[in-house]
Amino acid sequence: MTDWTPTRDAGLAQLEAFLPRAGRQYRDRRNHDFGPEDRSNVSALSPWLAHRLVHEREVISAALAEHGPEGAEKFVQEVVWRGYFRGWLEQRPGVWHQYVDARERALMALDKDKAMRADWEAAVEGRTGIEGFDDWAQELAAHGWLHNHARMWFASIWIFTLRLPWSLGADFFLRHLMDGDAASNTLSWRWVGGLHTKGKTYLARRDNIRKYTGGRFDPEGLSDEDPIPEAAETPDPTPLPQADAEPAEALWLLTEDDLSPAPEGPVAALDGPTARSPLELGAHAAAFTRGALDDAAGRLDAARVSSVEEIVQAARDAGQDTIALRRPLAGPVADRLEGLRAAAEGAGLALHLTRDPYDAAVWPHCRKGFFAVKKQIPRLVDELEL
Ligand SMILES: Cc1cc2nc3c(=O)[nH]c(=O)nc-3n(C[C@H](O)[C@H](O)[C@H](O)COP(=O)(O)OP(=O)(O)OC[C@H]3O[C@@H](n4cnc5c(N)ncnc54)[C@H](O)[C@@H]3O)c2cc1C
Repeated sequence: MTDWTPTRDAGLAQLEAFLPRAGRQYRDRRNHDFGPEDRSNVSALSPWLAHRLVHEREVISAALAEHGPEGAEKFVQEVVWRGYFRGWLEQRPGVWHQYVDARERALMALDKDKAMRADWEAAVEGRTGIEGFDDWAQELAAHGWLHNHARMWFASIWIFTLRLPWSLGADFFLRHLMDGDAASNTLSWRWVGGLHTKGKTYLARRDNIRKYTGGRFDPEGLSDEDPIPEAAETPDPTPLPQADAEPAEALWLLTEDDLSPAPEGPVAALDGPTARSPLELGAHAAAFTRGALDDAAGRLDAARVSSVEEIVQAARDAGQDTIALRRPLAGPVADRLEGLRAAAEGAGLALHLTRDPYDAAVWPHCRKGFFAVKKQIPRLVDELEL
């Protein structure tokens, strides 16, 4: 069983235990879902990576050191997917807001449409009668995590068999996943539904589920049609917002999106978990985020703050005239910190929104499909000295 303790030490231990299997074994076996008792064929590192208790660059470096560029190729590519989705969304932040709007409309529709509400309740409680799907719904609530293939099958059945709004499925995942990540989640749901790669959907098939679950699930009645849901037009990419330099002195603010900065000076940590939805956050997702923040804040002796006013006050208390943080990623934390610039400037403080060097190297290649960034991996490995 995976030990999901939300600390950096536990994440590093998970990495070390998985490393011997990160080479060809991962390449050949990663698509099998052996169930919650056996995650040995995948890294299960996503909750630590999503909050950056462990950084992608550490994981890539360790895999390359253990298996070399050829042996680790598939695993490294998968790790880069997270950066690809984040970089893509950073250049189209409107897609996050389109998702939030679609979710609001779908939640309102649930109040009016009793049949749809009954179908949605059956789906999230795992009572649809569809083998596998019901088990994954219950597994997600019970464990706060699902295998990638189960996520793909679940999203596909949600959209094409149950014909429920994709935004409500994305909301169910985001609320319950310990690795809940606005970019990976929103864009993966869009990808399954045919909204990310134009016209290309992912249709879950019974024989594929039977094969990759070792016969545990053999669902009948899955749709063999995949009509693409209606959605707002995908905006063209906009240039990445300029990143500010890391100041010599500042109050550093850590958020649950990126707990990796370890500055020498004063630090504050934005309390969490941040609401990811108008609906309640799942117990495992909430506990992991809270624990991750406690771990990072404890190591850096950070003050705890919960609003933009308290951030400004913490900077004053620390005698700093600059607040620095990683630019919040499109998603719930950025929405929560919307008023920070005005509050800082109103108090006569400078605000530096910085960018992690790994993100700065990866994101410019994430304007279209994954292939463009995949091609760059050998060069990125050199440039970042991984
Ligand atoms: C519908 C759907 C929703 C998803 N929602 C999320 C989410 O909210 N948060 C999240 O972290 N991942 C999400 N994913 C991506 C993926 O399922 C998980 O990152 C992966 O299953 C985590 O398991 P692992 O750590 O064992 O991955 P491994 O296979 O061991 O891969 C190592 C690391 O690479 C990264 N990675 C691997 N595959 C992907 C991928 N397809 N997309 C993005 N990063 C990837 C992750 O950081 C992962 O920890 C979603 C996928 C789908 C299909």
